[in-house]
Amino acid sequence: MRDIGELSRQFHVNAEWGTGGNFPRFLAHMRGKKVLLLADPNTRPLAEPLLSALRQECEVTELVYPEREPVADERTVQRAIARAEGQDYLLAAGAGTLNDIAKYAGHCTKKPSGVFATAPSMDGFTSGVTPLIEKGAKITRTAQVASDVLMDAKVLCSAPKIMRGAGVGDVLAKYCCLTDWRVSARLTGEEYNAEAAALMEEAVRRCEEAVPALAEGKEEGVRPLMDALLVSGFAMSMAGNSRPASGAEHHMSHYLEMDFLRRGLPIPLHGIKVALGTLVSLYLYKNLQHMPPFSGCEYVYREAEKLPPVEEAERIFLSLGCPVRFSGIGVSKETVRAMLLNAYKIRDRFTILTLYRRCGFMEKILDETVERFS
Ligand SMILES: [Zn+2]
Repeated sequence: MRDIGELSRQFHVNAEWGTGGNFPRFLAHMRGKKVLLLADPNTRPLAEPLLSALRQECEVTELVYPEREPVADERTVQRAIARAEGQDYLLAAGAGTLNDIAKYAGHCTKKPSGVFATAPSMDGFTSGVTPLIEKGAKITRTAQVASDVLMDAKVLCSAPKIMRGAGVGDVLAKYCCLTDWRVSARLTGEEYNAEAAALMEEAVRRCEEAVPALAEGKEEGVRPLMDALLVSGFAMSMAGNSRPASGAEHHMSHYLEMDFLRRGLPIPLHGIKVALGTLVSLYLYKNLQHMPPFSGCEYVYREAEKLPPVEEAERIFLSLGCPVRFSGIGVSKETVRAMLLNAYKIRDRFTILTLYRRCGFMEKILDETVERFS
């Protein structure tokens, strides 16, 4: 695989590993600037060594959200935008949500942003869009890519196991979404970017090899996982859309997320929901051979064969403490059923769910899929 440092430079991202706040490239770049730190009560203590080093170089103001788990909604984003006035740079100490807030607030105020990654839990570090909750619904807004991604192996290794599991969920999902993409290219003529797909696939393979080390929280596991999470953003930039990183498994995750929002319940980690969606996608691909033939089926069968068996993915997720049934995140059988029937509507993008819908296969396999994964 291409060196992650070289790749990062190509996309103007400073992906820097350091320990105890020692990030020389970042610190040199911040010299004399005014930096706003965004954190929450969980992530603020982890950023202390970096903040001490940063204060030697520049003026730091802090916005520590009082909530233990802030959400990226109008209120939190507005607070960041208001505090960004007079600042030169927004630095998030966190992973998904805080980075999303910094990327979006930075985009709105035309200031660069970066992230001190506290957990390898999702692939939004280097993506140029950000999911936000507006008026109680989830939408995706254009944002900016983090200019700096600061990684301390000790911090990342000590992130809760479930967060490492969530990161692996978001990475192994790529097996399915890349297959969705290829199948769509073949059956619908959608444009396919082989370079972006190959780059992503190689990073996924390396991450999968590192799962045993990841389960033990070792640095040699965390590094390939972070690489894959960063590559995901770069692959999206290369493709010009989120195809290399998101397919049916993400649509299922988004469907559930909206359901949790509607019910006013806390939303489980993105990567955990995506991992469950990945299991369903794998199951649907593997079961195509039991369905009647359809136009282009030989190609799709061959693609399905290349995918890992559902049981293998389940073993991986279980080894990282992730649930492999929807009941594990409090989703009922009825909701799983509704998700299987409706998640394809989330986005006008051809996936395995669209294929099942168009060919009338979902009704044939609905009951057993609900039972298998509820
Ligand atoms: Zn994702």
